[in-house]
Amino acid sequence: MMAAMQDMATPARAAANMETMAEVRIEGVSKSYTIGPIRELVLDQCSLTLAPGKLTVLIGPSGCGKSTLINILGGYERADDGSVTLDGQPISGPSSDRLVVFQETALFPWMTTYQNIVYGPLVQRQRDMKQVEVEAGRLLDKVGLKDFRDKYPSQLSGGMQRRAELARAMINNPRLMLLDEPFRGLDAMTRELMQEYFLRLYEDKRQTVLFVTSEIDEAIFLADTLVLMSNKPGRIIKSMEITLPRPRVASLLMSPEYLRYKDEALEILHEEAMKAFAGGSQAAADFVEAYDKRDA
Ligand code: ADP
Ligand code: MG
Repeated sequence: MMAAMQDMATPARAAANMETMAEVRIEGVSKSYTIGPIRELVLDQCSLTLAPGKLTVLIGPSGCGKSTLINILGGYERADDGSVTLDGQPISGPSSDRLVVFQETALFPWMTTYQNIVYGPLVQRQRDMKQVEVEAGRLLDKVGLKDFRDKYPSQLSGGMQRRAELARAMINNPRLMLLDEPFRGLDAMTRELMQEYFLRLYEDKRQTVLFVTSEIDEAIFLADTLVLMSNKPGRIIKSMEITLPRPRVASLLMSPEYLRYKDEALEILHEEAMKAFAGGSQAAADFVEAYDKRDA
């Protein structure tokens, strides 16, 4: 009964989302920071469109300005130059239209999983709580936490906490979902699981998403569009359409198409990493290493 209702609900939800899915345009965005006497250019003339309902993944070496761009889109920082619009409206400050999930985002420790998930709609008081309850149930199911609904964060594993955080963000139906390296620091197995859970949520909702990562497999596995950023100052060097079928399954990681995308992306990132490496950046070593291992 419940399953049948869910199946019927899916096309309706997708249709409802069509109207709310945002298009985001980033045009010629530059940003510098001044520390003491030194002015450092962080973002250099970045242009990029986030297509409505698509999952755009931004990848680039550490320190290239990815979080700075997320902060500008979140409305926490302002660009020095250029424009950032959501459906044609300039982004000028934080808003419930846009939701950011950081690596450091944490659940409220004094609330159960369920209470954490319904927290946003509860304080916003703009939705029918009966509907929110049903939605929370669906999300708990999607992220595999049905049996942990009444547990507190300290009773959940790190991966479970992250999944609950994703559900807590998604229930708000933001028009733009921003994720800044949300799975960084998780062990490899947990991380792969997280990617699959995240895709289940995304493929169900199809919100406009910008997902930032520095991990190439994660990037290609998730992306509709993969955007490569250069080493500092951050520039957009390439945008690749990833046409792997959805729903994405882990076995895709073995397909020739997948490997072709990975090769192409690593070729470019490697070049960038080598430049950074020559310039003394430690973080760039990860990319050099990833590239060198690709044929192994
Ligand atoms: P990424 O997320 O790609 O690792 P960031 O956007 O965090 O990169 O940082 C890019 C550069 O901007 C770094 O050199 C960082 O030191 C600098 N930076 C970021 N935020 C600030 C700030 N608030 N003040 C000064 N410098 C900053
Ligand atoms: Mg960052």
